[in-house]
Amino acid sequence: MKLRAPVCKLCRRKGIKLFLKGERCKTKCPLDRQKKKAPFSLRRRGFRRASEYSFQLQEKEKVRNFYGLSERQFRRYFQMAEKKSGIIGENLLLLLERRLDNVIYGLRIASSRRMVRQIINHGDILINNRRVNRPSYQVKIDDVLSLRGKSKLYSRLKEMVEKGKKEERLTWLEFDPEKLSAKVVRIPTRADVTVPVTEQLIVDFYSK
Ligand code: SF4
Repeated sequence: MKLRAPVCKLCRRKGIKLFLKGERCKTKCPLDRQKKKAPFSLRRRGFRRASEYSFQLQEKEKVRNFYGLSERQFRRYFQMAEKKSGIIGENLLLLLERRLDNVIYGLRIASSRRMVRQIINHGDILINNRRVNRPSYQVKIDDVLSLRGKSKLYSRLKEMVEKGKKEERLTWLEFDPEKLSAKVVRIPTRADVTVPVTEQLIVDFYSK
């Protein structure tokens, strides 16, 4: 998805860090500087009370931007979540969590989701030793994710992995920093989703 609006503006509107600018988000985020001030939306609108619809819309947009999807893609995920058994909102989040680009980003081998998609589109990611160039691929239990040995990015990514060794990684993966590979050891649960969201608001938004 191409982001047309200045990306920091999206984070300010949602009131959370969406990490859309890679490394800069960790060191030079304007939201970190704003922490002690009133939220942007409240200052600008003079504490006007938001409608139920706007809460639902904001929640949906927050998650959509977080995973970097277009409206069309996001709606398709919602339709898939509806067809599955269980709680729709939870199904939606777990489908998004299992996207290949989210998993690779979660391994911290690249600094932004945009970069992750480039890596995947170049065919540099292997799953069970086969090239997969679809960022939307849904990872499954026992899938082993690795990097193509001939990839120009290999050494760069290796360096990134070394730098990011102490960072928190997805707990449902077993990461091998030597081989630059990771194995899916379990399917994620709601507790593994890091974006702060009330998913029922998204369900309500699409159920109108
Ligand atoms: Fe900008 Fe990144 Fe901070 Fe968002 S998290 S406001 S994209 S620097």
